[in-house]
Amino acid sequence: MKDALQRDINYMRISITDRCNYRCRYCMPEGCAKVRMEDILTYEEILQICRAAGRLGIVNYKVTGGEPLVRIGCDSFVRMLKELPDTRQVTLTTNGELLEEHLPALLAAGLDAVNISMDTLRADRFSFITGGGHLGKVQDALAAAVSSGLKTKVNCLIQKGFNEDEVEDFAAMAFEKGIAVRFIEMMPIGCGDPANGYSNAVLLDRLTAAYPGLTADDTVRGNGPAVYYHIPGQAGAVGLISALHGMFCSSCNRVRLSAQGQLKPCLCYEDAVDLKPFLADPQALEDRLREAVLRKPEQHCFGVTGAPTEHRLMAQIGG
Ligand code: SAM
Ligand code: SF4
Repeated sequence: MKDALQRDINYMRISITDRCNYRCRYCMPEGCAKVRMEDILTYEEILQICRAAGRLGIVNYKVTGGEPLVRIGCDSFVRMLKELPDTRQVTLTTNGELLEEHLPALLAAGLDAVNISMDTLRADRFSFITGGGHLGKVQDALAAAVSSGLKTKVNCLIQKGFNEDEVEDFAAMAFEKGIAVRFIEMMPIGCGDPANGYSNAVLLDRLTAAYPGLTADDTVRGNGPAVYYHIPGQAGAVGLISALHGMFCSSCNRVRLSAQGQLKPCLCYEDAVDLKPFLADPQALEDRLREAVLRKPEQHCFGVTGAPTEHRLMAQIGG
């Protein structure tokens, strides 16, 4: 489906829960408010939205959260999404803590790819940043996902004074395991403070210093805005998701569905179209989906003083 700016919108991130078993300090620290359970869409309600979305050409889905694997039935939901007539791809973003035990069911459900978030390769730092997560479990899940043949990527957020000394270690892991590791710029969402993050331009300078053979890689590796670099002839790649400085809005192909049924045209703005009142009416759902797509802005407003930016947590908006 084309929006008013003539972009092809074919991808929806679906938050199936705002709950999480981690408490990442920049995302969902201790004590943050939760959505009422009765306000969270049922899987069948989400599927109704996806049926309408599929008819409009939105055929790729990323299941996310909060942490999607804490919601009971996530594996079956992936299967149901895959079985919709128009679906092309279903992928999952997870913190990895529960991934290994879910992997067989997710593979059987037809999951196309997984992204695992991992900000550090040191167990003590990992426990600190995630509020008690277990690096070993996530590393085991990563190894299991890679050896199962599932397309697997790692997402990493580098912060000043915390894990900035690990950029090269993550790149080494990418080339050693033959996977893509993507660096995401910190956004001013939730407790995220870009002043603590790094511009990806700086990271690229470091990566090219460490790997002089690093070359732009235009292999299509997913549905997103990452720009990849690789070493010709070697497996693996590093990717840069320059959410803040990249200004890739003109090629943005996505909308985001919150766990309560709010469809967000853009991650940055508070603007959302509430789909919940229209769930029983397929035509009205299609109309509201079109409305959200047409409301996609020309570009994000991160860093613009006084702009109507998103105040909810990343975990509440299908981050
Ligand atoms: N729980 C799953 C996970 O961690 O992958 C899925 C949801 S989580 C909100 C998705 C991604 O958003 C994670 O990779 C996390 O690092 C990222 N994230 C959260 N807050 C962010 C922020 N303020 N700026 C940039 N990325 C953020
Ligand atoms: Fe949970 Fe993911 Fe947010 Fe961490 S980044 S608190 S794992 S939703």
